[in-house]
Amino acid sequence: MFTIGYAAQTAAAPLAPFKFERRELRPNDVAMEILYCGVCHSDLHQARNDWGFSLYPIVPGHEIIGRVIEVGPAVTRYKVGDNVAVGCMVDSCMQCDQCRKGEEQLCRERNTQTYNSRDRITKEVTFGGYSKHLVVREEFVLRVPEGLDLAKAAPLLCAGITSYSPLRTWNVGPGSRVGVIGLGGLGHMAVKLAVGLGAEVTVLSRSADKADDARALGADRLLVSTDRKAMSAAQSSFDLIIDTVPSRHDVSPYMALLDIDGTLVIVGQIGPIDEQLTIPFVLGRRRLAGSPIGGIAETQEMLDFCARKNILPDCEMIRMDQINEAFERMEKSDVRYRFVIDMASLSEAG
Ligand SMILES: [Zn+2]
Ligand SMILES: [Zn+2]
Repeated sequence: MFTIGYAAQTAAAPLAPFKFERRELRPNDVAMEILYCGVCHSDLHQARNDWGFSLYPIVPGHEIIGRVIEVGPAVTRYKVGDNVAVGCMVDSCMQCDQCRKGEEQLCRERNTQTYNSRDRITKEVTFGGYSKHLVVREEFVLRVPEGLDLAKAAPLLCAGITSYSPLRTWNVGPGSRVGVIGLGGLGHMAVKLAVGLGAEVTVLSRSADKADDARALGADRLLVSTDRKAMSAAQSSFDLIIDTVPSRHDVSPYMALLDIDGTLVIVGQIGPIDEQLTIPFVLGRRRLAGSPIGGIAETQEMLDFCARKNILPDCEMIRMDQINEAFERMEKSDVRYRFVIDMASLSEAG
């Protein structure tokens, strides 16, 4: 199946129109027309080879909403016309202990990423959602529940599940005291989802500028992390802090905010952190943790939860040909809170 998308040909090149082929359907494959694709910070990092393992040409995009246009003969869960979604992974070994318990994101043989990864059968590089069509095995296709706005749902597939998974892992519910560091694509979803689960939510920010935004998203308050007095008054007052900051930063000021047995979980940054003192860990049995996306079952649970609670990302819709400008604006945090590409804007003409 010939299709079109946007690709970077090198780390220095902007994204540009790109024609390529999607594989012939295997028996358990679902083919979809992509309707919307969210723009994740990692798309920008991978397009520019910031992490050092990009394969070119690269077609980013792993927050995908589409409609089924064809299914393989063995597909049982989907039919033509269904609204579906695909997130950050499109395959895994499906045999190991992690896959068997629905934690495909932690597959012992590593999951196959939606783009910049290698197909488990052909070893061809996978191309993501900045394109018109996608072919994915049915086990990695999500169902978009009735009532979820298709035009806004795309960011749930990465930003949504990356925020939701730690909230579930650490059993957040009514009465939980949750802090969220950073108010970007991930952070704004962490706030909405934690509020949806019934938690008491505080946004941690370097200035009070975002206090109104935080409250508009449903947070109870904003704590200014540069305000020493306020920070010391807030010591030992959080059960879970979700750290969504995408770049290197010092987490030690936040460790003291955790109550005994509290956890600070990093979801936004891949890379080194500053040296840590063990005092808060040892004396308060506090933990510093990380968390990736969630498994397929948990991702479906999150989509259903969002439909039930009417939780949706705040999106700014763009055309495909605005993607390079969107990357630049995203680098300056100039977006509230997620760009979504309307794939109807991608035509043969590019
Ligand atoms: Zn992402
Ligand atoms: Zn596995």
